[in-house]
Amino acid sequence: MRSSCTARGPLAACALALPGVVGGAPPSKFDGRGPGNRPRSGCDFGLALNRRSPSCSRGLVHSPPPPPHRIASRGSGLATRRATESSSSSSSALKEMEEVQFAESEALVPAGVANDLVPEALVWAALHGFVVGDRSVASSGTTPGVGMAHVPFSLLPTPIPATAFAQAVELSSLFNDLIDRVSLDVDFLKQALARTQKADDFTARLLSMYSTILDEGVKQDIRLGLSRSDYMLDVATGDLLQVELNTISCSYPGLGSVVSDLHKYLVTELESSTKLDSSRVPENKVTEGFAKALSLAWKEYGNKSAAILMVVQGEEWNMYDQHWLSYRVKELYGIRVIRKTLAQVHAQGSITADGMLVIDGQAVSVVYYRSGYTPADYPSEVEWEARLLMERSSAVKCPSISYHLVGAKKIQQELALPGVLERFVPDKQVAASLRKCFAGLWGLEGAESESIIQTAIKEPHRFVLKPQREGGGNNTYGDDVASKLTELIAAGGDGLAAYILMQRIFPAVHTSYLVRRGAYSAEKTVSELGIFGAYVRNGDRVILNEQSGHLLRTKVSHSNEGGVASGYAVLDSPYLS
Ligand code: ADP
Ligand code: MG
Repeated sequence: MRSSCTARGPLAACALALPGVVGGAPPSKFDGRGPGNRPRSGCDFGLALNRRSPSCSRGLVHSPPPPPHRIASRGSGLATRRATESSSSSSSALKEMEEVQFAESEALVPAGVANDLVPEALVWAALHGFVVGDRSVASSGTTPGVGMAHVPFSLLPTPIPATAFAQAVELSSLFNDLIDRVSLDVDFLKQALARTQKADDFTARLLSMYSTILDEGVKQDIRLGLSRSDYMLDVATGDLLQVELNTISCSYPGLGSVVSDLHKYLVTELESSTKLDSSRVPENKVTEGFAKALSLAWKEYGNKSAAILMVVQGEEWNMYDQHWLSYRVKELYGIRVIRKTLAQVHAQGSITADGMLVIDGQAVSVVYYRSGYTPADYPSEVEWEARLLMERSSAVKCPSISYHLVGAKKIQQELALPGVLERFVPDKQVAASLRKCFAGLWGLEGAESESIIQTAIKEPHRFVLKPQREGGGNNTYGDDVASKLTELIAAGGDGLAAYILMQRIFPAVHTSYLVRRGAYSAEKTVSELGIFGAYVRNGDRVILNEQSGHLLRTKVSHSNEGGVASGYAVLDSPYLS
């Protein structure tokens, strides 16, 4: 297997950990993990953060050779720090004295203004369904209306360069198209995942279902893609780099719109007393956009009495995000949306002689997954059988098994190899635009990977090690990258093939007021921009290909990005600068 790099300007910089200032919010349990370490609703922020990362808390800054970048200031307060010698032995580069600069912008308003604004924001949240289930209340994950808490949020939107935002928006329809094209290339998908499936049972299971569906000749020409492409802005180069492309169960098409509305409202409130300008908070109609796409797929199917099936987890604290979308579908298009778990689909589902999916007597024309993306969603064969039942039916699946596979991190890495993306995107300019946002990505199988593996062991802070998992909390960062790689090498066999290596992206640091459990704290934060894309196609006819909206997720900058859940990520929206 080939190994390649598209990395540019790798730089590692940890912001000095600053104490939370006001409110002293305790680590919330809104961290995507329920009982039994179950990942949260899919394609969510991989928050899993430590309040004080051992290395970052010493204010270390690390930049690997060649000499550190001088970083252009993007914020108002440019900070300079001198790294002190690390006691850590895992990275030689960390032992070097290096001077780097990193952009660190001040809060949009002083703490006093924020303090006055918090109660207003909280009332707005309660009045406008900006809520999640409160895990401390029994049945809050199963019974709507029981145990609701406000969504953890950034009090004000976070500055994002307007050019980067526009670039991300523009890429959306290109990625929609790319997903569709890649999904049709059976040989590519099977070949690209061939080694991975040997090392990863979940990928193997999905691929096996894919083969079954192909062998049985099941065909559905109506294709529905509801995706979210996530980006971080690399502070060293200013480049917008893709973190990942989600094709299944993308979170926050409901609450994403709501947080933008909240910020629009609050910034409008502040307009007369500050320099803030509400026109810089972009409109966000993702809920309507996804509802439209679902309705168009439903319409193409052509059965007026059919419903849309939302496949959900048994316990879901993020249910209101999903209910927002169902509600819009019903409100705008009069289409019924039913919710079932995979186990319920198994118990109540069947396929008619002409291929129609029927659940509990209700015809289903569109299946929308908000479950089924993680092994934990398949505790027994029952769930796999339910998935296969739906795949075999004529219902439009969002995603189909092939769209699901295209979202694998291994596919992201394969597409970044020289010439691979270009096979799917003949237009050179379009391919160049897409490639521009690719970070450094490396496969780990085969002899060619030895050198990048050695580099990652020597300088683990420049990399993120990723398995084929979704839902947050699965990646390995920092010193753990070195130990995990060493462990995998020692174990021998195909273990390494389950992972990819990615260049670690270091975004600019801002000061944000994070509101959790009714209290706020000022934190140094970094943000990740997600752009939602919607795609509906019937055979040769592209019915919809658009950017539907966006989402900003913000977390404390000194996070130790491993799997220890303290959950300091919040919903946010951009303030275009
Ligand atoms: P998941 O499918 O679990 O969401 P992601 O690839 O999105 O996996 O990673 C989870 C989180 O880890 C991201 O939301 C981001 O905060 C962080 N992350 C992932 N890749 C990188 C990277 N290359 N550089 C910096 N942070 C990253
Ligand atoms: Mg993600």
